[in-house]
Amino acid sequence: METTDAFTGLECVDCGAAYDAETESHQCPDCGGTLDPTYDYDAIDLDRETLESRPFDSMWRYEELLPFTRESAVTMHEGATALVDCPNLAEEMGVERVLIKDEGRNPTGTFKDRGQTVAVTAATQHGATDVALASAGNAGQAAAAYAGRAGLDSHVYLPSRSGFTNKAMVNVHGGDMNVVGGRIDDAGGAYEEGLDEHDDWYPLQTFVTPYRHEGKKTMLYEIVEQLEWEVPDAICYPTGGGVGLIGMYKAATEFRDLGLIDEVPSLYAAQASGCAPIVDAYEDGRDEHEPVETPDTICGGLEIPDPGASPWILEALRETDGGAVAMDDPDILDAATQVAQHEGLEMVPSSAAAASGAWELAERGEFDGDETVVILNTGAGNKEADVLRSHLMSQGI
Ligand SMILES: *Cc1c(COP(=O)(O)O)cnc(C)c1O
Ligand SMILES: [Zn+2]
Repeated sequence: METTDAFTGLECVDCGAAYDAETESHQCPDCGGTLDPTYDYDAIDLDRETLESRPFDSMWRYEELLPFTRESAVTMHEGATALVDCPNLAEEMGVERVLIKDEGRNPTGTFKDRGQTVAVTAATQHGATDVALASAGNAGQAAAAYAGRAGLDSHVYLPSRSGFTNKAMVNVHGGDMNVVGGRIDDAGGAYEEGLDEHDDWYPLQTFVTPYRHEGKKTMLYEIVEQLEWEVPDAICYPTGGGVGLIGMYKAATEFRDLGLIDEVPSLYAAQASGCAPIVDAYEDGRDEHEPVETPDTICGGLEIPDPGASPWILEALRETDGGAVAMDDPDILDAATQVAQHEGLEMVPSSAAAASGAWELAERGEFDGDETVVILNTGAGNKEADVLRSHLMSQGI
């Protein structure tokens, strides 16, 4: 494998066992826990000047903090997205600054590209010929794109609910697309059956591969660098499986331990009230979620009723002194149109949950007037233009 110098392997987040990344590629063989990439941070010699001297051209500019070399990566220059000042939102929310990290500018229009560039790179290094996953939509599209680039076959299982763009683009990238009647769990079931029948399929499922949260952690590195090393007070994140939130939590502690920053931002999970297992657990003071029995929200990326990594997500919210907030679909859709009309930025409904949640948190007095709030726009609004437009039509517009 073409790993980076400080990458030491994988550690089980449940039992703590350590593994060689060459021999173990997915979950802990002992307990089935998620494996997390580890590094010898003492061997990483990164300072602010070194990072600033590099072109802001791709998330792989943080190569030392990723498992694989940039040279060996299956990459389309994902990441390095804009962090856009939103003065109108800041005024409306009564805070000093609001910035939107615009992940819609990634190759396939969402931040899922950051996860798949690393996970598909791992697949190539393990000699995979086929990759497979179940997805609400965007991860499947990203997987098909990166697999195509790497010359791998992709097998993507999407619920019938997922958006037209996702289904169309899995086909366009040459993926083997399986649309499964029902919701994400049904797609997951069909995917498991596929895996059982094909022992050469390499899973790209979140927290089954150790590498998707690892790729998404680069969002936090970029935010901090783009703010000229000022750590934002709050980051509001639209949470489904929590992959990006966990990634950013890890990244913040890494930057702090490397001496690049002194503190970590407060992380807030925003969900849709039709599927808010993390918010429920947070508000009840529990360490783990309870699965949502009948999830129902227009935010496909957030319709994850049984997020297996909930203990890790809840730890991130509590340890960073953040919080959690759930919003109703109509409020979320309103937030998407409001951001589009007041700031010009196009948010997919799932991401608009973070904007809507930030408004709500501001109203509850969670932010001070001198604070900086970052909202993650995880996907480009035009991927679901039909949904946003229908919302206006339902209001007679
Ligand atoms: C996948 C997805 C999410 C949720 O991401 P997690 O990291 O799994 O919580 C949010 N927004 C969009 C647009 C997504 O595609
Ligand atoms: Zn284990």
